[in-house]
Amino acid sequence: MNHIEYKGRNICPSKIVCVGRNYVEHIEELNNEIPSELVVFIKPNSAISNDLVCNKIDQIHYECEICFLIYGNAIAGIGIGLDLTKRAIQTELKNKGLPWERAKSFDKSAVFSEFVSAPEDLTGVTMELHINGELIQFATYDLMLNKPSQVLEELLSFLSIENGDVVMSGTPKGVGVVNEGDVFTGKLFNHGRVLVEKTWAVAV
Ligand code: ZN
Repeated sequence: MNHIEYKGRNICPSKIVCVGRNYVEHIEELNNEIPSELVVFIKPNSAISNDLVCNKIDQIHYECEICFLIYGNAIAGIGIGLDLTKRAIQTELKNKGLPWERAKSFDKSAVFSEFVSAPEDLTGVTMELHINGELIQFATYDLMLNKPSQVLEELLSFLSIENGDVVMSGTPKGVGVVNEGDVFTGKLFNHGRVLVEKTWAVAV
């Protein structure tokens, strides 16, 4: 089983539960409709990777997301995650009304920073993704259509979340291609104070 790190300990999530279309400007950039209910999909434990890799045949897009580690059906930890997506395949599957696993659940499609204790009040949380030193994605609590507590409540209404499972809360606008040699830096803040910072260099 693959693991993530939480407060210096290794944790094996049984699954990663991902929320789609949770930021208006990202919905617009992919020409999607604002959903009437939460869009949810799952990545298995086997999708977790420490390395960020590109793919020259099936181009991979990054989606940088604020992530939550769940314990006792509550948010315990917070970190940064990359929901890696084979966008062309996803678009094809979407158009045919087929499931997204080939585009979203492949090996190395989920990359995470370490997780730290989540602040009790999440309203001051912001996230930034820099690529090669340039600010590319920016997320705040306010920009989320579904707030983390609502997301968790909705998920728990139909799905058991095991201790150590991760919830990815959706990506803001600015998604794009993962290119060989790019350097990604994710930063998570609470009221402007750094909670987590993580850098990945893209490998082949
Ligand atoms: Zn995503």
